[in-house]
Amino acid sequence: MRAYKAKAVERISLPDREARDRHLREAGYNVFNLDADAVFVDLLTDSGTGTMSDEQWAALMRGDEAYAGSESFRRLESAVADVMGFERIVPAHQGRGAENVLYGTIISEGDYVPNNTHFDTTRAHVVNSGGEPVDCPVESEAGDPFQGNLDVAAVRDLADEVGAERIPAVVVTITNNSMAGQPVSVENVRAARDVADELDARLVVDACRFAENAYFVRQREPEFEGESVADVAREQLSYADAVVMSGKKDGLANVGGFVGVREDDDELYERTRQRGILYEGFTTYGGMAGRDLEAMAVGLREAVEEAYVESRVEQVAELGELLQEVGVPIRTPTGGHAVYVDAEEFLPSIPRERFPGQALVCELYREGGVRGVELGEFAFPGESRPQLVRLCLPRRTYFRDHLEHVAETFADVAERRGEVSGLEVIDEPEMAELRHFSAELRPVE
Ligand SMILES: *Cc1c(COP(=O)(O)O)cnc(C)c1O
Repeated sequence: MRAYKAKAVERISLPDREARDRHLREAGYNVFNLDADAVFVDLLTDSGTGTMSDEQWAALMRGDEAYAGSESFRRLESAVADVMGFERIVPAHQGRGAENVLYGTIISEGDYVPNNTHFDTTRAHVVNSGGEPVDCPVESEAGDPFQGNLDVAAVRDLADEVGAERIPAVVVTITNNSMAGQPVSVENVRAARDVADELDARLVVDACRFAENAYFVRQREPEFEGESVADVAREQLSYADAVVMSGKKDGLANVGGFVGVREDDDELYERTRQRGILYEGFTTYGGMAGRDLEAMAVGLREAVEEAYVESRVEQVAELGELLQEVGVPIRTPTGGHAVYVDAEEFLPSIPRERFPGQALVCELYREGGVRGVELGEFAFPGESRPQLVRLCLPRRTYFRDHLEHVAETFADVAERRGEVSGLEVIDEPEMAELRHFSAELRPVE
């Protein structure tokens, strides 16, 4: 049962079929180019797209917009200390700003950074700081409880190969966004702590979805059965030397982020603060308005409330079940923020080089005004990875009938899957890594 009722609503509408065809054509068969008001159910991302609570809206009015020493900053600081256990923070405009502040401080030219899996902005900031990002995901099978874990042995192998002195930090991303939002166990973070100590490296947790992760830990790791999500979250984060956080995820806010630093790490605190001033803003606002600091302070506390996090993670599972009922092949178990559909299995007649994932994304829009995102050959050209479509649920935003509409849309596409054509790219930007944001395509027979 959803632990919310609506207090403010936003009108959405489904354009007619002819308009959807036209929008799709005008967008160059790339849903990033669609106007949001032409989208009915928007599952593009869960980043900053969620619904704030009445308490958060009320807190906005309290926003202290002082340039220095804002009271709102103090309230955010104490929320982070209470919920995540980090006494000091360096605020940033969003997660990648925090990444720039932290990774730009601790990484030097020629360093290596192991991570269970680098999220794309994390990878870019490691590279931008002169480092070499190394993904170390555990090998896992469908059904394993913690498919997001870090392969700690692979980190030791990396250290043997390149030398421990070239590894300034071991990073654990919870949940593992690039690995279908799969969770990481507390035991795995403890093992990561041990290996970081052996290498004399810092342990950094990318904590964007720390509350969703804690919910899975409580459910799947026997040691934590019966504990509160808030306690599990604090326990899991207690092993880290620093955290990077995007307030747009489990901060339940529309913007914002921060680096969390330990009270006794004066050196890291001072250096990240200086870099924060250069790139983000003075140390008591960091690119956020005072009201944004307030919204995140309240949001962080709400993120570990049982009723919230349960309805959040279970809604993702619910979408997964509705899709399975109509025969859609999805990755299981579902992760914390999104359902991943296997597009090659769903549209078997479209070869990889004709972008089955992107073709499915286009059909979902054409059929039902549903917007998902391709994570396959179109987004990651030339990489041999599965052709997936991600359906990401914004927090506290959609109701069951929206999810049913998504499942019906899939069923309708399935009925005419033989007619769905593949696509070719006709215009793309120079940077291949960013092509899925702006490239244009056209259907091919
Ligand atoms: C979203 C995200 C980031 C970056 O945060 P932004 O607020 O989008 O800049 C970093 N790491 C992970 C795991 C994320 O999901």
